[in-house]
Amino acid sequence: MTQPSPRLNGTATDAVAALGALWSDSFDRWVAGEISASQLRCVLCEQAPCQCPPFGSAGYFALVDRRHRAGPGEAGDAGEGC
Ligand SMILES: [Zn+2]
Repeated sequence: MTQPSPRLNGTATDAVAALGALWSDSFDRWVAGEISASQLRCVLCEQAPCQCPPFGSAGYFALVDRRHRAGPGEAGDAGEGC
């Protein structure tokens, strides 16, 4: 059994998080099989299913920028609702 990279050995989540990723609060429920992928709330557009603009479009990057600037736990960004 070969492993492509020791850096990806069981720490992919840590690696992505280290890049500044934001994780949907429903991600754990999806991993646990409690909800389907279509019910997984998108961390960017906060819709389930995802309603993001096409990847790479100006609208997409504006959404990424807005979400990263707001960050988790800041005022008015506590979860449900618009
Ligand atoms: Zn989305």
